[in-house]
Amino acid sequence: MDFSKRYDVIVVGGGHAGTEAALAAARSGVKTLLLTHNIETLGQMSCNPAIGGIGKSHLVREIDALGGAMARATDLAGIQFRVLNSSKGPAVRATRAQADRTLYKAAIRKILESQENLEVFQQAADDLIISGERVDGVVTQMGVRFFAPTVVLTTGTFLGGKIHIGMQNTSGGRAGDPPSIKLADRLRELPFNVGRLKTGTPPRIDARSVDFSVMQAQPGDTPLPVMSFMGRVEDHPEQINCYITATNERCHEIIRGGLDRSPMYSGVIEGIGPRYCPSIEDKVMRFADKTSHQIFVEPEGLTTNELYPNGISTSLPFDVQIELVRQIRGFENAHITRPGYAIEYDFFDPRELQHSLETRFIKGLYFAGQINGTTGYEEAGAQGLLAGINAARASRELESWCPRRDQAYIGVLVDDLISMGTTEPYRMFTSRAEYRLLLREDNADLRLTSIGRDMGLIDDSRWQAFCQKQDSIGDELKRLKSVWVQPGTDKEAAISGLLDKPLGREYSLADLLARPELSYKTMRDALHETSIDMPQLDPQVTQQVEIQLKYQGYINRQEEDIQKLKRQENTALPADFDYQHMDGLSNELKQKLLAARPDTIARAARIPGMTPAAVSLLLIYLKKYQ
Ligand code: FAD
Repeated sequence: MDFSKRYDVIVVGGGHAGTEAALAAARSGVKTLLLTHNIETLGQMSCNPAIGGIGKSHLVREIDALGGAMARATDLAGIQFRVLNSSKGPAVRATRAQADRTLYKAAIRKILESQENLEVFQQAADDLIISGERVDGVVTQMGVRFFAPTVVLTTGTFLGGKIHIGMQNTSGGRAGDPPSIKLADRLRELPFNVGRLKTGTPPRIDARSVDFSVMQAQPGDTPLPVMSFMGRVEDHPEQINCYITATNERCHEIIRGGLDRSPMYSGVIEGIGPRYCPSIEDKVMRFADKTSHQIFVEPEGLTTNELYPNGISTSLPFDVQIELVRQIRGFENAHITRPGYAIEYDFFDPRELQHSLETRFIKGLYFAGQINGTTGYEEAGAQGLLAGINAARASRELESWCPRRDQAYIGVLVDDLISMGTTEPYRMFTSRAEYRLLLREDNADLRLTSIGRDMGLIDDSRWQAFCQKQDSIGDELKRLKSVWVQPGTDKEAAISGLLDKPLGREYSLADLLARPELSYKTMRDALHETSIDMPQLDPQVTQQVEIQLKYQGYINRQEEDIQKLKRQENTALPADFDYQHMDGLSNELKQKLLAARPDTIARAARIPGMTPAAVSLLLIYLKKYQ
């Protein structure tokens, strides 16, 4: 059955990768089709209804800076917002939002349905149309054929998906959804390297059966953060608390007692799970000396009683799940609404992709999201956005684009995946980025919005707001550098009051704001009665001004490192280079270098965990070697 319409880009899958891919392609101005199993599950959060967190919020802000939907939807759906690491440096600060699952889906659907150039069709894609070595379209379950020169596959955990609860297993893409079997079989016929991974989710609990009075309440932050650069606190729905409880030794005994019926420990599951999001049975076995593990009790939304007990993901048999949950403080009478489960699925070796996320073997075919071995909504969204941009560019015969590692976490993510591959679900951390201080969540817009504008991804209202912000930052920095505080004046007295000692000499306001003890707000309040009038600026502007002044030295150093590395990129590393005996290199890096045996400094620098200091060390040893 031929469908009369041709598209420029077809996106398969309406999860986090698929929705960003479809939106990015359509925003770039090309005719796009989003083909997904079920329109009701567009933007569905398969697991925890939360967006952001360390490393992940950086990706969300980058998606936002390029016009994507995730941050805007989070602002409309977030019911508890916090800034993690708020007392630490700006590079590792991260915004995290607990979201109302239903509001999030509704926000994503509304954004999709208002997007020009984008059509949605509900149906499974069962087959790809391939002519020679290039893709030509897809065939749906009903046999409808859609044609396009580019196809983005974002099928998440659905390819050959198998759900496990204890020793029982069934086929499924996630609980309540069918798997993608035909498409998985078709992909296995193509020359891609396929592997199996697994992930899991905890049982959900009815809030009416929980005693919150014995748990620690965890309110959101004040002032309330926003996720999007365009976000407004007024757009947030009602804010509510999360709670904290913990497992105990009795729970751990029950878990150990159930391991003989655990699909993970009895060898039924072959796929490797996420190291940084382990199941409770994994935690109990791996950290046998720990007598307790924290559980964050997170509401699933404002209009539901379901709770997500974050920290007890499990695929143990249901009877064991009930027994262990009821040992937890506050859960003594808990009613489980949905059992926890693990899911195994196919993924494809991301080393077979190009930086554009186009596959190396089939022209026009792109992979994005969990299909590439990643885990997490944010990682999926970031790849989807990039694949959508590049599919649209390819359909117009434009060159592909991918940010560099020193430009964006998206660049780090893609570069890690395609150069190192992955054997376990890959998630983002700030430690994966060598140039963390440049890639902060607060400056994602300053790094990427003008690039997005050039690619047609940024609408006029966002562009105007961005330009205004950029101008205000520039103007304020200029002003602070040109206003001086002289000794013996009322201004000096005001500032000295904050420092508990006189200034001793003349300083510009910029010099003063660079001091760790002073903030824009404290200086503004102190100088209020003097002739220096510090303006009341947008908090996003003062935040940038403060960070740029306080961290300028470190920022300059990282920029110099990047330039230095660029100059040395093509320096060859000998095949027999002795990494084992390099003093000052961590054992982990020695192992990684020995395994990868990079042929140039640039390749070595891209190994996850390599720092500029480690690269300098390689260069020193290289000189000795020569
Ligand atoms: P998905 O969100 O899975 O979306 C895939 C979409 O593709 C769906 O809309 C589906 O209907 C559609 N689709 C699939 N096949 C076809 C087809 N043939 N035709 C049409 N449409 C199709 N992440 C974490 O970070 N931490 C966790 O602890 C965690 N636990 C998880 C536990 C479970 C049980 C599951 C299922 C997921 C978990 N995740 C976790 C992963 C997180 O849900 C994914 O990383 C994220 O959703 C991936 O986004 P995606 O867009 O790649 O795929």
